[in-house]
Amino acid sequence: MQTIAERLNSARQDVSLATANANRPPNSVKLLAVSKTKPVSDIMAAYEEGQRTFGENYIQEGVDKIQQLSALSDIEWHMIGPIQSNKTKIVAENFDWVQSVDREKIARRLNDQRPAEMAPLNVCIQVNIDDEASKSGVKPEDVDELVRFITKQDKLCLRGLMAIPKANPDSHEQAQSLSALKELFDRYHTNLTNFDTLSVGMSSDMQSAIAHGSTMVRIGTAIFGARN
Ligand SMILES: *Cc1c(COP(=O)(O)O)cnc(C)c1O
Repeated sequence: MQTIAERLNSARQDVSLATANANRPPNSVKLLAVSKTKPVSDIMAAYEEGQRTFGENYIQEGVDKIQQLSALSDIEWHMIGPIQSNKTKIVAENFDWVQSVDREKIARRLNDQRPAEMAPLNVCIQVNIDDEASKSGVKPEDVDELVRFITKQDKLCLRGLMAIPKANPDSHEQAQSLSALKELFDRYHTNLTNFDTLSVGMSSDMQSAIAHGSTMVRIGTAIFGARN
Protein backbone atom coordinates (compact mmCIF):
# COMPACT_ATOMS: atom_id res chain seq x y z
CA MET A 1 0.00 0.00 0.00
CA GLN A 2 1.34 3.39 -0.98
CA THR A 3 1.05 6.35 1.37
CA ILE A 4 -0.81 9.55 0.50
CA ALA A 5 2.56 11.31 0.27
CA GLU A 6 3.78 8.79 -2.31
CA ARG A 7 0.57 8.96 -4.34
CA LEU A 8 0.53 12.75 -4.25
CA ASN A 9 4.10 12.88 -5.50
CA SER A 10 3.36 10.45 -8.28
CA ALA A 11 0.27 12.50 -9.28
CA ARG A 12 2.54 15.58 -9.38
CA GLN A 13 4.96 13.73 -11.64
CA ASP A 14 2.08 12.69 -13.92
CA VAL A 15 0.96 16.31 -14.18
CA SER A 16 4.52 17.50 -14.97
CA LEU A 17 4.99 14.80 -17.58
CA ALA A 18 1.64 15.49 -19.26
CA THR A 19 2.47 19.23 -19.25
CA ALA A 20 5.86 18.61 -20.87
CA ASN A 21 4.33 16.20 -23.41
CA ALA A 22 1.88 18.92 -24.40
CA ASN A 23 4.79 21.35 -24.93
CA ARG A 24 3.45 23.63 -22.25
CA PRO A 25 5.56 25.57 -19.72
CA PRO A 26 6.42 23.83 -16.42
CA ASN A 27 3.98 24.61 -13.58
CA SER A 28 1.25 25.83 -15.92
CA VAL A 29 -1.19 23.23 -14.55
CA LYS A 30 -2.26 23.31 -10.90
CA LEU A 31 -3.21 20.22 -8.96
CA LEU A 32 -6.39 20.43 -6.89
CA ALA A 33 -6.52 17.57 -4.36
CA VAL A 34 -10.13 16.37 -4.17
CA SER A 35 -10.65 15.18 -0.60
CA LYS A 36 -14.39 14.48 -0.62
CA THR A 37 -15.44 11.61 1.66
CA LYS A 38 -11.89 11.42 3.08
CA PRO A 39 -11.01 12.26 6.68
CA VAL A 40 -9.22 15.37 7.89
CA SER A 41 -6.17 13.21 8.68
CA ASP A 42 -5.80 12.49 4.93
CA ILE A 43 -5.91 16.22 4.18
CA MET A 44 -3.22 16.75 6.83
CA ALA A 45 -1.02 14.11 5.20
CA ALA A 46 -1.23 15.93 1.86
CA TYR A 47 -0.75 19.30 3.55
CA GLU A 48 2.48 18.08 5.17
CA GLU A 49 3.66 17.20 1.68
CA GLY A 50 3.13 20.81 0.59
CA GLN A 51 -0.37 20.56 -0.93
CA ARG A 52 -2.36 23.76 -0.34
CA THR A 53 -5.43 23.55 -2.60
CA PHE A 54 -8.24 21.13 -1.78
CA GLY A 55 -11.61 20.45 -3.40
CA GLU A 56 -14.80 19.31 -1.70
CA ASN A 57 -18.12 18.25 -3.25
CA TYR A 58 -20.56 18.17 -0.39
CA ILE A 59 -21.29 21.46 1.32
CA GLN A 60 -21.75 20.39 4.94
CA GLU A 61 -18.84 17.96 4.83
CA GLY A 62 -16.60 20.60 3.28
CA VAL A 63 -17.57 23.28 5.81
CA ASP A 64 -16.93 20.88 8.72
CA LYS A 65 -13.42 20.19 7.40
CA ILE A 66 -12.71 23.88 6.76
CA GLN A 67 -13.69 24.67 10.34
CA GLN A 68 -11.67 21.81 11.81
CA LEU A 69 -8.61 22.87 9.83
CA SER A 70 -9.01 26.63 10.29
CA ALA A 71 -5.58 26.84 11.95
CA LEU A 72 -4.04 25.98 8.55
CA SER A 73 -4.89 29.38 7.16
CA ASP A 74 -2.97 28.96 3.91
CA ILE A 75 -5.23 26.21 2.57
CA GLU A 76 -7.31 27.32 -0.42
CA TRP A 77 -10.69 25.55 -0.36
CA HIS A 78 -12.59 24.90 -3.58
CA MET A 79 -16.26 23.91 -3.72
CA ILE A 80 -16.67 21.70 -6.80
CA GLY A 81 -20.06 20.03 -6.27
CA PRO A 82 -23.65 21.03 -6.99
CA ILE A 83 -25.10 23.85 -4.87
CA GLN A 84 -28.73 24.14 -3.81
CA SER A 85 -29.81 27.74 -3.36
CA ASN A 86 -30.66 27.30 0.34
CA LYS A 87 -27.00 26.41 1.00
CA THR A 88 -25.28 29.36 -0.65
CA LYS A 89 -24.73 31.27 2.60
CA ILE A 90 -22.41 28.76 4.28
CA VAL A 91 -20.60 28.33 0.97
CA ALA A 92 -20.06 32.10 0.64
CA GLU A 93 -18.89 32.30 4.26
CA ASN A 94 -16.39 29.43 4.14
CA PHE A 95 -14.93 28.65 0.73
CA ASP A 96 -12.26 30.53 -1.24
CA TRP A 97 -13.45 29.29 -4.62
CA VAL A 98 -16.69 27.92 -6.07
CA GLN A 99 -16.12 26.11 -9.37
CA SER A 100 -19.67 24.88 -9.84
CA VAL A 101 -21.65 28.06 -10.52
CA ASP A 102 -24.23 27.17 -13.14
CA ARG A 103 -26.98 29.75 -12.86
CA GLU A 104 -27.64 33.38 -12.15
CA LYS A 105 -29.60 32.70 -8.98
CA ILE A 106 -26.66 30.93 -7.35
CA ALA A 107 -24.22 33.64 -8.47
CA ARG A 108 -26.46 36.40 -7.12
CA ARG A 109 -26.87 34.71 -3.73
CA LEU A 110 -23.14 33.97 -3.39
CA ASN A 111 -22.39 37.61 -4.14
CA ASP A 112 -24.98 38.95 -1.71
CA GLN A 113 -23.96 36.52 1.05
CA ARG A 114 -20.19 36.88 0.77
CA PRO A 115 -19.19 38.67 4.00
CA ALA A 116 -18.04 42.25 3.42
CA GLU A 117 -14.74 41.72 5.26
CA MET A 118 -13.75 38.77 3.07
CA ALA A 119 -12.04 39.02 -0.31
CA PRO A 120 -14.31 38.49 -3.32
CA LEU A 121 -15.21 34.84 -3.82
CA ASN A 122 -13.37 33.26 -6.77
CA VAL A 123 -15.83 31.54 -9.08
CA CYS A 124 -15.80 29.41 -12.21
CA ILE A 125 -18.75 28.75 -14.48
CA GLN A 126 -19.46 25.05 -14.84
CA VAL A 127 -20.06 24.17 -18.49
CA ASN A 128 -21.91 21.03 -19.58
CA ILE A 129 -19.63 20.39 -22.56
CA ASP A 130 -21.12 17.08 -23.65
CA ASP A 131 -24.74 18.13 -23.11
CA GLU A 132 -25.36 15.27 -20.67
CA ALA A 133 -28.72 15.24 -18.89
CA SER A 134 -27.09 13.78 -15.77
CA LYS A 135 -24.69 16.68 -15.33
CA SER A 136 -25.13 20.19 -14.13
CA GLY A 137 -23.52 23.09 -15.91
CA VAL A 138 -24.65 25.67 -18.43
CA LYS A 139 -24.76 24.94 -22.12
CA PRO A 140 -21.85 26.46 -24.03
CA GLU A 141 -24.21 28.87 -25.80
CA ASP A 142 -25.47 30.19 -22.45
CA VAL A 143 -22.04 30.91 -20.96
CA ASP A 144 -21.95 34.44 -22.32
CA GLU A 145 -25.01 35.62 -20.43
CA LEU A 146 -23.72 34.23 -17.13
CA VAL A 147 -20.27 35.79 -17.73
CA ARG A 148 -21.93 39.16 -18.19
CA PHE A 149 -23.93 38.74 -15.00
CA ILE A 150 -21.02 37.55 -12.82
CA THR A 151 -18.60 40.24 -13.95
CA LYS A 152 -21.06 42.84 -12.63
CA GLN A 153 -21.02 41.44 -9.06
CA ASP A 154 -18.48 43.12 -6.76
CA LYS A 155 -18.10 40.25 -4.30
CA LEU A 156 -17.40 37.70 -7.05
CA CYS A 157 -14.19 37.35 -9.04
CA LEU A 158 -14.76 35.36 -12.23
CA ARG A 159 -11.73 33.09 -12.63
CA GLY A 160 -12.71 30.80 -15.50
CA LEU A 161 -14.56 27.68 -16.60
CA MET A 162 -14.96 24.22 -15.11
CA ALA A 163 -16.15 21.07 -16.88
CA ILE A 164 -16.55 17.35 -16.25
CA PRO A 165 -16.18 15.57 -19.60
CA LYS A 166 -18.12 12.41 -20.36
CA ALA A 167 -16.69 9.26 -18.77
CA ASN A 168 -15.06 6.79 -21.17
CA PRO A 169 -16.05 8.51 -24.38
CA ASP A 170 -14.78 7.85 -27.84
CA SER A 171 -11.36 9.57 -27.80
CA HIS A 172 -12.04 11.56 -30.97
CA GLU A 173 -15.31 12.83 -29.53
CA GLN A 174 -13.57 13.71 -26.28
CA ALA A 175 -10.87 15.66 -28.12
CA GLN A 176 -13.56 17.60 -29.96
CA SER A 177 -15.41 18.62 -26.85
CA LEU A 178 -12.18 19.54 -25.03
CA SER A 179 -11.13 21.69 -28.02
CA ALA A 180 -14.48 23.45 -28.04
CA LEU A 181 -14.13 24.15 -24.31
CA LYS A 182 -10.62 25.55 -24.83
CA GLU A 183 -11.88 27.84 -27.58
CA LEU A 184 -14.63 29.12 -25.32
CA PHE A 185 -12.10 29.67 -22.52
CA ASP A 186 -9.69 31.58 -24.80
CA ARG A 187 -12.42 33.95 -25.89
CA TYR A 188 -12.77 35.28 -22.33
CA HIS A 189 -9.19 34.70 -21.22
CA THR A 190 -7.93 37.26 -23.71
CA ASN A 191 -10.43 39.92 -22.66
CA LEU A 192 -11.09 39.58 -18.95
CA THR A 193 -8.63 40.25 -16.13
CA ASN A 194 -8.34 37.31 -13.71
CA PHE A 195 -10.02 34.88 -16.11
CA ASP A 196 -7.10 32.45 -16.00
CA THR A 197 -8.52 29.07 -14.98
CA LEU A 198 -9.67 26.17 -17.13
CA SER A 199 -10.54 23.48 -14.60
CA VAL A 200 -10.83 20.18 -16.44
CA GLY A 201 -9.30 16.72 -15.99
CA MET A 202 -9.62 14.14 -13.22
CA SER A 203 -7.64 11.00 -12.33
CA SER A 204 -8.78 9.16 -15.45
CA ASP A 205 -8.66 11.86 -18.17
CA MET A 206 -5.89 14.15 -16.99
CA GLN A 207 -3.52 13.61 -19.94
CA SER A 208 -5.99 14.59 -22.63
CA ALA A 209 -7.29 17.52 -20.55
CA ILE A 210 -3.75 18.89 -20.19
CA ALA A 211 -3.12 18.39 -23.90
CA HIS A 212 -6.21 20.57 -24.46
CA GLY A 213 -5.18 23.50 -22.30
CA SER A 214 -6.38 22.62 -18.80
CA THR A 215 -4.81 24.88 -16.15
CA MET A 216 -6.18 22.93 -13.17
CA VAL A 217 -6.74 19.22 -12.78
CA ARG A 218 -8.94 17.91 -9.97
CA ILE A 219 -7.52 14.67 -8.64
CA GLY A 220 -9.14 12.56 -5.94
CA THR A 221 -8.74 8.81 -6.32
CA ALA A 222 -5.13 8.89 -7.54
CA ILE A 223 -4.08 10.73 -4.35
CA PHE A 224 -6.42 9.51 -1.63
CA GLY A 225 -7.42 6.11 -3.00
CA ALA A 226 -10.84 4.78 -3.98
CA ARG A 227 -13.94 6.17 -2.27
CA ASN A 228 -16.58 3.94 -0.66
C1 LIG B 1 -14.90 13.53 -7.41
C2 LIG B 1 -14.58 14.63 -8.36
C3 LIG B 1 -13.30 14.78 -8.88
C4 LIG B 1 -12.16 13.81 -8.59
O1 LIG B 1 -12.38 12.62 -9.28
P1 LIG B 1 -11.32 11.41 -9.24
O2 LIG B 1 -11.81 10.52 -10.33
O3 LIG B 1 -11.44 10.80 -7.90
O4 LIG B 1 -9.98 11.96 -9.50
C5 LIG B 1 -13.06 15.86 -9.70
N1 LIG B 1 -14.03 16.74 -10.02
C6 LIG B 1 -15.27 16.63 -9.54
C7 LIG B 1 -16.29 17.64 -9.92
C8 LIG B 1 -15.59 15.57 -8.71
O5 LIG B 1 -16.84 15.46 -8.26
